[in-house]
Amino acid sequence: MQQHLTVPALLLASLWTLCTGSGDWCYQSQFTCDHQCNAPEKWNHVNGDCGGRSQSPINIVTRKTLKDERLTPFQFKDYQQIFRGVIKNNGHSVKVDVPHLSTISGGGLPTTYKAVQFHLHWGTNGGPGSEHTIDGEQYPMELHIVHMKQHYADLTTALADPEGVAVLGFFYERSSSANRKYDPIINVLRSIKSTNDNTSLLPISLAQLIPSEQNMTSYYRYKGSLTTPSCTESVIWTLFEKPIPLNMDQLRMFSELKFQDGKPMVGTFRPVQPLNGRQVYQSGGAVILASSTLLVAAIATALGLSQPI
Ligand SMILES: [Zn+2]
Repeated sequence: MQQHLTVPALLLASLWTLCTGSGDWCYQSQFTCDHQCNAPEKWNHVNGDCGGRSQSPINIVTRKTLKDERLTPFQFKDYQQIFRGVIKNNGHSVKVDVPHLSTISGGGLPTTYKAVQFHLHWGTNGGPGSEHTIDGEQYPMELHIVHMKQHYADLTTALADPEGVAVLGFFYERSSSANRKYDPIINVLRSIKSTNDNTSLLPISLAQLIPSEQNMTSYYRYKGSLTTPSCTESVIWTLFEKPIPLNMDQLRMFSELKFQDGKPMVGTFRPVQPLNGRQVYQSGGAVILASSTLLVAAIATALGLSQPI
């Protein structure tokens, strides 16, 4: 009797160890019974903050956003500055550390933030791969330019401040023609295929990677977290409405990169997280206000109310 009970129990226990995983975190695309890693549903085992109530990314439901007139255009300083960066395959993404001279202010931010690094999240061969979604739509890729408050020396210190980090997020869309401004990045991906590979970039500026300033006045804002462990809830998120164009060949190049185990680096996004009552704001409140004022004026004129009686 004892034996009959023990054998299935042992079997269950060994299956459990085999498939639940342990060790480093990974994306869902990396999880197999053979590769034991902590997929997104288990990131709270890697760091408790990943199970918090203000996590990122989220799905933005546009009809539930609130227009906020304080969300004015950003001031970008030294975004045109050309620098020689190093691009690295860090086993989860490709990352470029940037000199701390480019800053952002305005845009409803409490203070000035300086750029620290940028990295990307993508799908499989140009398929859905963004982290944030808009009304359920997942874009092929998402760029994160990570900033920290100007007076901090490193990200670790900034993450201890609930508003220490500001991330600018940009979506990509598939275009018919190549975006030549991305050549310096895309052309070196083949030389950093393996984890921990790195190489120098030809001189680039942050400005060349993002839309023009007049195309960055529409954006969404909410308070959230890093989208990889430690998942620290210290991020003021900005997601710009205007996507960056890349053609299919350019998007596909990112799927040539490899994870640590040599498998294709694809599906490098965390699933969307519960909003838990957080409000998402949208820029452009002032513009709507101005146009409704104009509308009232126009109606008044039409009714002859603006004429002196
Ligand atoms: Zn990111």
